[in-house]
Amino acid sequence: MSRPIVAIVGRPNVGKSTLVNRLAGERIAIVHDQPGMTRDRTYRECFWGAHEFTVVDTGGLVFADDTEFLPLIREQAFTAIAQSCAVIFVVDGQEGLTAADWQIGQWLREQSLPVLLAVNKCESANSGLALAGEFWQLGLGEPIAMSGIHGNGTGELLDELVKHFPAPDQVEPEPEEIKVAIIGRPNVGKSSLLNAFTGEKRAIVSPISGTTRDAIDMVVSRDEKRYRLIDTAGIRRKKNVEYGPEFFGINRAFKAIERSDVVLLVIDAVDGVTEQDQKLAGRINEEGRACVIVVNKWDAVEKDSYTIYDYTQEVKSRMMFLDYAPIIFVSALTGQRVTKILDQVDIVAEQHRRRVSTAVLNEALTEATSWHSPPSSRQGKQGKIYYCTQVSSAPPAIVLFVNDPQRFNDNYRRYIEKQFRSALGFEGTPLRLMWRGKNQREVERSSNRATRV
Ligand code: GDP
Ligand code: GDP
Repeated sequence: MSRPIVAIVGRPNVGKSTLVNRLAGERIAIVHDQPGMTRDRTYRECFWGAHEFTVVDTGGLVFADDTEFLPLIREQAFTAIAQSCAVIFVVDGQEGLTAADWQIGQWLREQSLPVLLAVNKCESANSGLALAGEFWQLGLGEPIAMSGIHGNGTGELLDELVKHFPAPDQVEPEPEEIKVAIIGRPNVGKSSLLNAFTGEKRAIVSPISGTTRDAIDMVVSRDEKRYRLIDTAGIRRKKNVEYGPEFFGINRAFKAIERSDVVLLVIDAVDGVTEQDQKLAGRINEEGRACVIVVNKWDAVEKDSYTIYDYTQEVKSRMMFLDYAPIIFVSALTGQRVTKILDQVDIVAEQHRRRVSTAVLNEALTEATSWHSPPSSRQGKQGKIYYCTQVSSAPPAIVLFVNDPQRFNDNYRRYIEKQFRSALGFEGTPLRLMWRGKNQREVERSSNRATRV
């Protein structure tokens, strides 16, 4: 059984996010006083006794209003509830029972899920009980008087809540996930591809909100692997929803890149590589993310047997920053090769996280320098590489200890990177090579240590 998820619902401003902050054991973050205000909605990890669980604040539920983000919030709430094993329905004890509470209450009664009725803003124990009494009318069981700000009543709420959880020893640990950002210019087919990934309903594990405003992630699973598709709200355009000017902007793409392990850079086969694509490519490399270039709308290109080859060359030459990225030609429309995209994601994600032993790296280095020795300076002093070692991964970073970094020009540095790639792989991931000059004796000492390991 997977870790239990608990959805927190209620109308705006009743204190849902204050309660989530308290359950997650953190001091109150940002709270807003304007009703209907949307804000960061995150899934938060919580525990109570031996129980670990995830709490999601579904945002302010409003049924009778379709403006702004409200339809989107409702949809999120519905999906979140579908994944949950219990719901905490928060109402405002000081304000009393409202028409909106009735609507939500009625809707919750139609869901076959345990509901805990949390009557918030009941700071004082005595008057709290009186305030809570009114909410018996909702027909959702005993109202629990509590205060998210002061913390009273939350223990009782949690005791009730965990009764609906599976026994802790039956909860499996979360599998590792690969964070995937789908980015590209408008109209290249990102949302069509997203639909192709998530189209099979059973693949959807849960929508998970990210860290930025309304950045909703979606998790899909395949062959025991989980892929978190970053910021699917930014990809999907919803009818009847007004988005701000920044919603589909380049900053949003940059943020998605930042949060990802692997970027799918989607290009329109008909338009080819544009300047904007190059800008995105530069950023992906700068951030050190693994990447697969997805050339979409391949169905719309007239082809002969050379087309793929020519097109690959063209993309490679125009995407210099991403010369490490594999290129895949797909059609979201016909579904051609779409399933191969996640195969590529698996490959590049593995290379991105890869660690290569010092012995193997130095073998490749010796091979490379024997074919093509390091350049000499005009004074006839030759560059010398003592040894190299991988210092970190995601992306892999290799330090090369040399006599003097200035003796190694860009050409030679590129040559070494190319040789590492051809000997060791690293497909789809940037490689960071760091050239360090070192005092000779120190180098020898570390070199001895390294060979002993
Ligand atoms: P949400 O819109 O339901 O997520 O509500 P917030 O958590 O943003 O809280 C709305 C307002 O209610 C804020 O001004 C909070 O300070 C206030 N509030 C939250 N919890 C309590 C509480 O336990 N007691 C009182 N008196 N005010 C609270
Ligand atoms: P987004 O803005 O990147 O999310 O792009 P959309 O997924 O909304 O697609 C933009 C347009 O391109 C729509 O009219 C799609 O029907 C069309 N489109 C998407 N994928 C393909 C494809 O593989 N082939 C063709 N011919 N059209 C496509």
